[in-house]
Amino acid sequence: MKQISRREMLKMSVAGAGALALGAVNAQASAIDAKDVKFDEEYDVVIIGSGFAGLAAGLSAAKRGNKVLIIEKMGRIGGNSVINGGGMAVPVNPVQEKTGIKDSKELFIEDCLKAGLGLNHPELLETIANRAMESFNFLVDCGVQFKMDHCAHFGGHSVARSMLTTNDSGSGYIQPMLEKFEKTDGCKLVRRTKFDDFVVDESGKVVGVAVREEYKFDDKLYNDDLENTSGTKKTIKANKGVILAAGGFCRDKAFRKLQDPRIPDNVDSTNHAGATAGVLLKAFELGAYPVQVDWIQFGPWASPDEKGFGTAPILTQQGTFKYGIAVDVRTGKRFMNELADRKTRADAEFKILRAAPDKFPITFADTKMAFKDLSEEIISKGMSSGKLVGECKSLDEIASKYGVPADALKETVKKYNEGVKAKKDEFGKQESALSEINEAGPFYVIRLSPKPHHTMGGLKINEKAQVLSSKSGKPIPGLYAAGEITGGTHGASRLGTVAITDCIVFGMIAGENI
Ligand code: ADP
Repeated sequence: MKQISRREMLKMSVAGAGALALGAVNAQASAIDAKDVKFDEEYDVVIIGSGFAGLAAGLSAAKRGNKVLIIEKMGRIGGNSVINGGGMAVPVNPVQEKTGIKDSKELFIEDCLKAGLGLNHPELLETIANRAMESFNFLVDCGVQFKMDHCAHFGGHSVARSMLTTNDSGSGYIQPMLEKFEKTDGCKLVRRTKFDDFVVDESGKVVGVAVREEYKFDDKLYNDDLENTSGTKKTIKANKGVILAAGGFCRDKAFRKLQDPRIPDNVDSTNHAGATAGVLLKAFELGAYPVQVDWIQFGPWASPDEKGFGTAPILTQQGTFKYGIAVDVRTGKRFMNELADRKTRADAEFKILRAAPDKFPITFADTKMAFKDLSEEIISKGMSSGKLVGECKSLDEIASKYGVPADALKETVKKYNEGVKAKKDEFGKQESALSEINEAGPFYVIRLSPKPHHTMGGLKINEKAQVLSSKSGKPIPGLYAAGEITGGTHGASRLGTVAITDCIVFGMIAGENI
């Protein structure tokens, strides 16, 4: 299993050893040459990743009689998909028809383009719109159970068009899809098996993968993809090719910071631990076109004082942002409209964290008002750790506990209340959301930090889910991709619930075409 170094490659081309096409030489330089490999196992199709995209691709390829292997590097299957909220945008679906909601594919595309600032690749968006309903039926056939009495109306969509699983979770998809896949003859899913590299033949076609079995993902490493040496090496032949469904890179400290230097290393993400960029980077090495890799979506409603998505998004959005304010602890002053769009708020928070990485801004409201719209269940969940929500008797206590200049903080609250009385907020907070803060306290306080939530960019694919090469502009033979590892569908910002549609449609397509 010999890897050709760049120096060797250079020597080869200088010596005129390139009877091979240039593309093929380059591909070999960044992958393993099939001539040097004695494969340990053989399948028709090998899929990297066991989320929505990987399982959809697996089921779709298996349906066509292929022997399919899905490899998953983590001990748990389902990546971000299994912890997802379970909403799937399906324009023009039967539940809309039943409940009298008028929708169209064009309206769906328009909504996505608006959120995506027009950067969406139209042919990918159209593909999703055209095949969303078919992908929904594909899921029903797999045994996924949807609520059939109503669709949900998510932010940014013009109409209610998102289908929900009966258990309000992505696991409602992953479980039945996995069961169906594993019951299919010739199909296998293996965990703790990490994709390391491509095996490429002399024509430049991807014909297999190098993996490590018994891989132990290590969350404590700064860069698991580069530093982790665990596991036993193996090579697997993929007669028809390889499908990349390895998800996004919101948990990759090194790579996300290269794309967006505002992201400090100590900022957690809403994603599962294994959301790293290793597979994406290997595909780039092979010559795949990169697309919009630095568009990363952040949740400005998250807190550094709990892991993952947590409960802060609910306590702030429906609580302290509405009935209180957010303050820069360095100055004691407000710095944003607490109810602006996601990007505006995340940018404002990043401005502070970039200058002072440990100075997480705070949001607070007086205890009588703060959580009055929320259920007991959510409040006690938020309070249970004792770390997320701080309770302070007075503004002076907030100042001393969070290191805020006390006089400035008092002045800020006074000024805010004056704005409420005058129905004019200095940051343009909506009038309907203006209510006075009781200066006497007590207060609930939450620290804020925007958490990376979704990486919009990735590999360029065409409507057939083939990965396109930057060396030829054409598909890389034997290489397909689907889901969050691909880029372009969502443009600058993904609308909620379009991720599942994207994963299932292109997973299905990859399985069809391979
Ligand atoms: P999507 O929503 O696009 O389907 P997910 O995050 O749900 O993405 O799933 C991607 C899966 O791919 C995750 O479970 C992740 O652990 C897995 N994965 C990522 N990199 C590798 C790799 N190098 N080898 C095997 N599996 C990987």
